[in-house]
Amino acid sequence: MNNFIFLGPPGAGKGSLAVKVAEAYKIPHISTGDIFRANIKAQTPLGVKVKAIIDSGSLVSDELTFELVKDRLSQDDCKNGYILDGFPRTIRQAEMLEELAADAKVVNFEIKDEIVIRRLSTRRVCKSCGANYNTLTLKPKKEGVCDKCGGELYQRDDDKQESILHRMDVYREQTEPLINFYKGKGKITNLDAAIETDVLLKEFQKIF
Ligand code: AMP
Repeated sequence: MNNFIFLGPPGAGKGSLAVKVAEAYKIPHISTGDIFRANIKAQTPLGVKVKAIIDSGSLVSDELTFELVKDRLSQDDCKNGYILDGFPRTIRQAEMLEELAADAKVVNFEIKDEIVIRRLSTRRVCKSCGANYNTLTLKPKKEGVCDKCGGELYQRDDDKQESILHRMDVYREQTEPLINFYKGKGKITNLDAAIETDVLLKEFQKIF
């Protein structure tokens, strides 16, 4: 079964690799951040509730986030596997997920803080399709315009300097302990996430 959990700090490249792995392994890429952002954009009750939390870089509650994931994993397209990107982010979430995904393989993205800060502060995202770009390393053909759908590119509120530093603290305090949690269960594989996504995909395919 190809059930993967992508673990690592914000800006480690989990989402970028997940897009490629999803394509190569024909499994869905499930990003809790993307689900929240889609709800914020559509101004659903959930979106209205979580917007301020997400903009500040703090975490949405464990119960609410787990319910979303549980519902998503119960859908048909997850039968042959999935990639969880950005979930779990706390020990409590990981414990709840064990009941649903005890067989999942955990991929830990290892990366230095200064690379994370540079990547996040230069990240741009398409307002329409959510594709990621970077003003230094992954420029669109036309500035400010998505190559894939022509949508407008913008900087996420939580990619502004103050939120970036807060998200890194949140990661260190609440998410990093998951490395030991999964190590203890013998489920973790480390990846050097400083390398370019296509090269990283090849590494990933060698392992899995
Ligand atoms: P991401 O796109 O993964 O960086 O997520 C963006 C934001 O969504 C995070 O900073 C949190 O506010 C929220 N979020 C995403 N996943 C989770 C999660 N597993 N638990 C709590 N909040 C989350």
